[in-house]
Amino acid sequence: MNNELLLPIDHIKGIGEETALQLNEMNVFTIEDLILYFPYRFEDYSMRDLADVKHEEKITIEGKVHSEPVLTYYGRKRSRLTFRVLVGRYLITATCFNRPYYKNKITLHDTVTITGKWDQHRQTITVNELVFAPITKKDRIEPIYSIKGKITVKGMRRFITIALQQYGDKIGENIPELFLRKYKLLQKKDAIRIMHHPITQEELKQARRRFVYEEFLLFQLKMQAFRKFEREQTKGSSLQFSGEELSNFIKSLPFPLTNAQDRVVSEIIKDLQSPYRMNRLLQGDVGSGKTVVAAIALYASFLAGYQGALMVPTEILAEQHAVSLVELFSNFGLNIQLLSSSVKGKKRKEILLQLENGDVDIIVGTHALIQNEVNFKKLGLVITDEQHRFGVDQRRVLREKGENPDVLFMTATPIPRTLAITVFGEMDVSIIDEMPAGRKAIETYWAKHEMLDRILAFVEKELIKGRQAYVICPLIEESEKLDVQNAIDVHTMLSLHFQNKWKVGLMHGRLTSDEKEFVMKEFSDNEVQLLVSTTVVEVGVNVPNATMMVIYDAERFGLSQLHQLRGRVGRGSEQSYCILLADPKSEIGKERMRIMTETNDGFVLSEKDLELRGPGDFFGRKQSGMPEFKVADMVHDYRALEVARNDAIELINSKQFWKDYSFKSLREHLTSSGVLEGEKLD
Ligand code: ADP
Ligand code: MG
Repeated sequence: MNNELLLPIDHIKGIGEETALQLNEMNVFTIEDLILYFPYRFEDYSMRDLADVKHEEKITIEGKVHSEPVLTYYGRKRSRLTFRVLVGRYLITATCFNRPYYKNKITLHDTVTITGKWDQHRQTITVNELVFAPITKKDRIEPIYSIKGKITVKGMRRFITIALQQYGDKIGENIPELFLRKYKLLQKKDAIRIMHHPITQEELKQARRRFVYEEFLLFQLKMQAFRKFEREQTKGSSLQFSGEELSNFIKSLPFPLTNAQDRVVSEIIKDLQSPYRMNRLLQGDVGSGKTVVAAIALYASFLAGYQGALMVPTEILAEQHAVSLVELFSNFGLNIQLLSSSVKGKKRKEILLQLENGDVDIIVGTHALIQNEVNFKKLGLVITDEQHRFGVDQRRVLREKGENPDVLFMTATPIPRTLAITVFGEMDVSIIDEMPAGRKAIETYWAKHEMLDRILAFVEKELIKGRQAYVICPLIEESEKLDVQNAIDVHTMLSLHFQNKWKVGLMHGRLTSDEKEFVMKEFSDNEVQLLVSTTVVEVGVNVPNATMMVIYDAERFGLSQLHQLRGRVGRGSEQSYCILLADPKSEIGKERMRIMTETNDGFVLSEKDLELRGPGDFFGRKQSGMPEFKVADMVHDYRALEVARNDAIELINSKQFWKDYSFKSLREHLTSSGVLEGEKLD
């Protein structure tokens, strides 16, 4: 945009010092901020507010039928039909004389347009004309701005109108002509005016469409430019190793890789061998076998003479991963260590030393791995499991531990494509979309709490077959104490119920990691048949003999989390079951339970979850790293997002983009958002 638009807002007539300060409170500092301060909704004033209508005046109103019509006859031909209508915030009565046939046409909640005489005292309209459809909109649609302090909506309208009069002509175009024409997009100047003062809904839709594309294009350009420069500038190391030794390891595995595993392994190996630094996201549903893919990558890095790190979000998971890696590599002579906050004292010192002098080949740990005291001799590969639980900054810190190590992010929360290409837009993505052979789909049922007895009988049937079961108690985020108490209560109840028959274990976040490890070991050795747990057991835990999961208060969990939890069963070849104990109050809650019983496909679930929760909540608010868009909505506008992404990739990789005048404003955007330094542009 033109520089004049970057002037402070007090350049606008009528905005004095005090108003300017108030506007600053709303994050409006420049003229550009002001004219891009779009309304959050519109009021359709083609109809008048009933409060302003005089007694016995003739009006047209639009409203929703709010009660079943009541028909009264008086005399043979004379009748009166009355029903309630909700008009804006007013509930009024409509009366219709001698037209009994309307009774069957008037449907509850339908929108009707009524013209008639207004009785102000009785809040009643006497119907002259009744149309079973909304009002046709001819008049102006008025913008409603979100406001703060002393600023009023009317004030905002006035400031913006003046700003547009004074500076409207200075608004430059930043989308190249090429795309404006290709997608028939409005000019920025026009679109801005329409966003504030649309005449029709259609016009508004077109203006919105333009900004959706603009926002996505600029965002994706940033991501793609970032990706290109990362690749070209940070010279990663090109790992050299013997393919034969690597395939010996793969052959030593207790099972053949699935086709999908095979494919992602080659994608990763190719990255490791290339001189570019790997920055890859590996998505695969729970149980799809990501651990072994990680092991193969770590072995490749070991063969090339580098150390590898595997970082996971919880101690239990770190312990489990360490155990599985030790097992997988038992004949290959690697030094594998575990570093978590519970590794202390002498042992810790020793591991730190071994990391520094290069004796440790693979280190597995929690975020303890990114503390300052941890130094590597030659870190070549960093893998993080369940990456979305680590914030962007934590991911960066770990990457900086070595000299541009290759980075692989693994996630079992399948990320909807829309989110993957926004949040992780700068990464390459590999997907394991196939389960190891012989897996049976988990049968999921939704039950009410009052059916507990029957459920426990069902659980016992599985236990008698020699299987094991999890009982999960909900996470109450505000209070870990309550959370634990919940699990303790359920544990007590079940211990009593299964007294002298089955052993019931208890796992929660308040246990020390030694205690946790002990409980987990008892469970995986089948000394404990029933494990009551909070969600600490959520990610990655692997006990294939467990075939039954009961989730208490399942309505408290999001779909992705339920799917994660459910993924703890169904890991062996036996049929597994998941029972959701839930009495959801809301429609969304019920919908979640239904979806869970209908599909086992994590990608389907994640798309649904995104729809139900919205992108902000998908990863949890704090670490979301979600970009914020003014107009665009990632869920609903995802088609535009994909289009913009492809355009951005094409642009960034074309020669013209870097020299043609028509792309100047886009290049400037990259400079001003810090992706490019000024000197890169001529
Ligand atoms: P996740 O992707 O959830 O991390 P895991 O790596 O824990 O899944 O694998 C789940 C289970 O599947 C493990 O017991 C693992 O040994 C097994 N597994 C992995 N790959 C295969 C395969 N190709 N064939 C058979 N079983 C496999
Ligand atoms: Mg895993």
